[in-house]
This record gives sequence, structure tokens and C-alpha cells, in this order.
Amino acid sequence: MLWVVDGEPSKGPPLSDKLTTPAIFGHLEELYAIAQKHNNSRSVTNGYLASAEYVQSQLELVAAEYCDVSTQEFKVPVWSELEVPELSSTGIGHDSTFIQYQNKVDFQNFRYGGPSANLKKQGIQGVSNYGCSAKDHRKVKGKIAVIQEGGPCELWDAAYLAEQAGASGVLFYNNPKRKALLFSRIRIIAWKEGDPLISIPVLSITNSLGLTLIQNQDEVHLNLKTVNSLTVESTINVLCTSKEGDEDDTIVLGAHLDSVPEGPGMVDNGSGATSLLEIALVLAKTNYEPKNKVVFGWWGAEEIGLLGSRHYVRELAKDEKKKKQVAMNMNFDMLASPNYVPYVHDGKTAPKDLVGSSSKIDHLLIEYFSTENKRYEYTDMVGGSDFLPFLLEGIPSGGLLTGAGERKTMEQRTLFGGFANAPLDPCYHQSCDTLENISKEALTLMSQAALYAITKLVKADNLREWLAETNVDLL
Ligand SMILES: [Zn+2]
Repeated sequence: MLWVVDGEPSKGPPLSDKLTTPAIFGHLEELYAIAQKHNNSRSVTNGYLASAEYVQSQLELVAAEYCDVSTQEFKVPVWSELEVPELSSTGIGHDSTFIQYQNKVDFQNFRYGGPSANLKKQGIQGVSNYGCSAKDHRKVKGKIAVIQEGGPCELWDAAYLAEQAGASGVLFYNNPKRKALLFSRIRIIAWKEGDPLISIPVLSITNSLGLTLIQNQDEVHLNLKTVNSLTVESTINVLCTSKEGDEDDTIVLGAHLDSVPEGPGMVDNGSGATSLLEIALVLAKTNYEPKNKVVFGWWGAEEIGLLGSRHYVRELAKDEKKKKQVAMNMNFDMLASPNYVPYVHDGKTAPKDLVGSSSKIDHLLIEYFSTENKRYEYTDMVGGSDFLPFLLEGIPSGGLLTGAGERKTMEQRTLFGGFANAPLDPCYHQSCDTLENISKEALTLMSQAALYAITKLVKADNLREWLAETNVDLL
């Protein structure tokens, strides 16, 4: 296919020769060096702020004429287990029997399951109906509440009701079908400044331990010790808003910039964040004048529950007019997985009323793969990443992904190469998510696909009409 850019024939789509993988990789090297200075991590309490400063400084150096750099500060709760928890009982079987339970086998902490605690010889109280209403917790005062998980309410709701009723701790035991212990978050999902956090210890225990405790409820006493850290920290989103472009047709392009505490986050999500950075710099350097306003967003605190993008969208939604100005979102989270599958987010999996518009976004991305004779696969848009807060506020979204911890199927191996039955990213959320973990091949393919869609969208004359109608081409 021959492209014509500004009257000059070009080898590829607009700016495709300007966006280079070595330039993106150069930004990754900078982020990696930052992680090395911060416990091999770019999480909220490690190298995140330094990463944000790097992105800001690059934008201010190269793109200051093109987009206005700003930051959004917000608070996030950060929880970590400092020492393994301890749990033991007396009163099961013979009165004197002391039983020491095993962490990760019989019980374990929930994330955000309270700060440190040291409970001794505590009585327990079985709570019925999954602890979903206040009246279920009538007898828990001064005791450890033992509650079956899997009910109609969030575990957070049941745990918080127990705390409000004066319980000293909560043990959620697995429903009979669940084998593995739970490690979910005992927290309001979209936590924001001012919201409560649980302040009593909350742990997951096996079904059999839960039933045993309840059977011996009147005799059993528990010792429970946790050593956790739970603090509220400040963090930021980094934004760059194009000076030009129609505000009523704003496009928000996003990638999270934080990593997990366990690793430097080169694939997740250095790859998406630096691709978006280099794309912004290329648009700026070539003065690629947008018809529609563009907001480049680097989200903080994605790894602790999409808290940066949730903050951005919450602030946006405070002003209905401002929210309505945002026509669409695109998200780039993991673009260089070593055993990659080139995934495009499937618009059909967006909330019902956004299926049409989100499908238009996925078709535009697929157009790139088709014109380049490259294969791709659809993946759904449920949970997972920063597109979610946008979808939940009625803003269509789409994006790209190369895969996390899930294994490659034989069919995918046949289509895309790599290793079957091996994770798409074997270093997902681990300390080995280093520069060596980056697939430059995937990074090139996916950053070019992103660029293709972005260059078309920002210049589109009829963005809203295109999003709304199935048979309209992007002009
Ligand atoms: Zn991610």
C-alpha cells in the first residue's frame, strides 16, 4: 500500500518512520535505571514519582509547544505484609491442645486486611448469611468473626460490618467449592481520600478450618498476629493536553506508569507508557496539528486498583459538561510481552450502550493489522485495566495488549509463533520484568498500531459521527 503524506509518497502510514523502537527503548532504559535506584520497583512508594518526573521532563523538553503538561495529585492506600502472619488455637479436641496453623496452607492475609494486630486468646463467633447485613453481626463484639465467603455482598462490606459491630478480627472461610485461599482486596474498590479502610485483621482460611472453628465455637480461643504496613500516600497522574484541537471532541489516550512493588515493570507497563510518551513526542516534533483535542494520560496507582484513572474520571465526571467533551479513550497496557499475542480490545465486550462506538475503535486498530498483513486476536474488556473507569462513565474505549500471565494456546502458537503452554509474559508482576523481558518485535508492532489509530483519530473531522454510526468512515 502506498501512502501519501503531505503530498509526498511515504513508505508507511503517517509518522510511522518517525516513531522508532530504539527511541521507545531509550525511555524504557531510563525507567529501568529509576527502578534500580528504588528497590527494583516503580510502585507508588518506590520509583513511581521519579518515573512521573521523567515523563514530565521529556514532555516539557520536547512537547512544551504542543501540549500543556500538568499533574493531578490524589491519595491512595498502600498495604504490604511485612512479616508472615501467625495463627494458632486452643480448645479444639482436648482442652489443652495447642494447634499452630500454617501460613499459605491453612490461612493467609487478605490484601488491605488491616494494619498490624496482635490478638491473644480471643473467642470466636460464627456469622451467618455471609455477614452481609448488620444484624448478622449481633454477637461479634470483642470476638473474631468467622464468616463464609461467596455471598451476595462484597467481602469488604461484611468485614466492615463486623468491625462496626466491635469484632476484633475477621476470618473468611472458603465456600466448599473453593480450594485456594483468597488474596483479594478487603477495600472499597474505587477507594478515594476520606473513605474508610479496615482496621482489624482480616484473613482467609480454608473451608475445613472454618467449619472446625465454628463447630468448637464455645471452647476455641485464637491467637492471631499480623505485621503489616497500611499507609495513605500521595501520588499523581501526569497529563499533557494538546494546545490545539476541538475541546468538544476530546480524545484521552492513557497508559499506567506505575509497576507492582515486586518488580521494575518494563513490560507492565513501561512498554505502554513509553510508547505513548514517544508518540506524544513525535506528534509534537512534527507539529502534527490535531483537529480534536488530545489528552495524553500517564496513570498512577493502576496496580492497586486502577486508582489513577478512576481519580481522573471521577474529577471529570464532577462537571457533566466536561465529561461530555470526552469522546473516547484508548488504553495501552503491556505492549511488549516476550511470548506475545497481538491483542485488540473487543468492543463487543464493552457495556451494551458502548458496544457500537467501542467496536469502531477496535476496527480502526484492526485496520492497521490488515493493511500490514499482520495477524491479531481479540481480547475482552472486562475489569483489568484503565479503560474500565471510562467505560463505567459512558465513554467508549479500546486499546491494545500483548498478554500477561495466561498461557499461550496451541492455536495461538500456530498463528503467532512463540511457546505454547507457556505464559505470554513469564515475568508478569515479578522482579524479572526487566529490559531483557521486552520483546522489541512486539513493541514495534504494537506501538505502530497505536500510532496508526492515533494519527487518524486526532485529525478526524467527524469523530463523533464516526463513533455513533456503523456505516461512517473516519474522515
Ligand atoms: Zn498493567
